Amino acid sequence: MKRNLFERSSARRVVGALAAAAIGVCVAAGPAAAQLNPSYKKYSASQIAKIFDNGDIHVLPVQGNIYMIVAGDVNVVAQVGDDGILLVDTGKKELAEKLIETIRLRFENKPIRFIINTSVRPEHTGGNETVVKFIRNRGLGSGGGTGGDGGGNNTFRLIAHETTSNRMNGLLPGETEAPADALPTSTFFTEKKKIYFNNEPIEIISAPAANTDGDLMVFFRGSDVIASGDVFRTDSYPVIDAKRGGTVQGTLDALNRILDITVPEFNEQGGTRIIPGHGRLCNESDVDDYRNWMTIIKYRVEDMVKKGMTLDQVKAAKPSLDFDGVFAGNAPYIEAAYQDLTTIAKAAPAAKAAPSRGGKTK
Ligand SMILES: [Zn+2]
Repeated sequence: MKRNLFERSSARRVVGALAAAAIGVCVAAGPAAAQLNPSYKKYSASQIAKIFDNGDIHVLPVQGNIYMIVAGDVNVVAQVGDDGILLVDTGKKELAEKLIETIRLRFENKPIRFIINTSVRPEHTGGNETVVKFIRNRGLGSGGGTGGDGGGNNTFRLIAHETTSNRMNGLLPGETEAPADALPTSTFFTEKKKIYFNNEPIEIISAPAANTDGDLMVFFRGSDVIASGDVFRTDSYPVIDAKRGGTVQGTLDALNRILDITVPEFNEQGGTRIIPGHGRLCNESDVDDYRNWMTIIKYRVEDMVKKGMTLDQVKAAKPSLDFDGVFAGNAPYIEAAYQDLTTIAKAAPAAKAAPSRGGKTK
């Protein structure tokens, strides 16, 4: 419903991105850049964030077997069919009971056979314990191991990236162990894991060093829907969790990975749908815009780093100004971009740029 806020034709998008990139190369975001997207001024970032968080649960049929379950300000995804239910994430702990009740009533009490956690972040794993207890009370045992598909008919699996599992098990510095029922029972560390469920091939795709070091995206090939987790969201800038191995480049790589999969019906609309970790249901164009904008900001920060600006100076120069009306929380993204680039600069001191102008910036 808010889609038209973001829609532009492909041609305009390319021109807009190029123009903004050019502005980013020359100067920090200024009045000219702010004119690129005047319609965004209709809503403040905090208003947009509130639209998606009324503390209740709503179910939106997407296409094929897929339902988007809006649980407060977090999206849970359900794939539903004769074999049962597969959930992507379990939302926040405080909404878990409500989530179970909604799923039970809406999907005819079908068994939950899979949970896939897209990252370790608490708003995506917080409901694990309550949902798994509910599953166990129905007599389904956990199918462990690292390979294969769903196990037998009476099992369920909680799948996560190995690093996410290590974090939830308290094995990495700074992490505490989650309750036993909340822990993944099936992990992997390769680029991709494939399962087949409800007559549908499903690809669970690793997004290395994106928001964290254990992010996953889920591509439902038959339904043609991607559950992106937090590598893509419509309510804020990427929340890069640098302490947990997140990086800006990894997030941009993940956005490009999504665009590699999507096939639009027409003019970047329709076809493959993307359910973000937070925010509204999206088309390819939304991911394309987001990727372009986040890339532009990264290049602006890169330009400032090359000029030797400190993090405080970069923040004061407002490299994300023309997008701050659309998205909340620019600080973690700018900080992560700065840290990524200064880390790279330290690793390769010979590549430190001279302060002269007119050189290539990319
Ligand atoms: Zn999240």
